[in-house]
Amino acid sequence: MKPVRIDADKTFPPRECPGCAMEVPANNNRCPICGYDFPNPSPRQKHMKFWGAVIMLVLFIFVMLRLF
Ligand SMILES: [Zn+2]
Repeated sequence: MKPVRIDADKTFPPRECPGCAMEVPANNNRCPICGYDFPNPSPRQKHMKFWGAVIMLVLFIFVMLRLF
């Protein structure tokens, strides 16, 4: 058992390939069995999610302020 491997598994859990249902290590962006390309979540999408949450929070606070 290699401790480095455990750390890697913790940080990057293996994903199930939609193409062949095999477990693919998260650091592999392409399935070694069927060659399926995993869509990589881009930082831009994360950014959009963050701003979406901020806007929702601001709207929520605004509605709460109007209620009182
Ligand atoms: Zn596959």
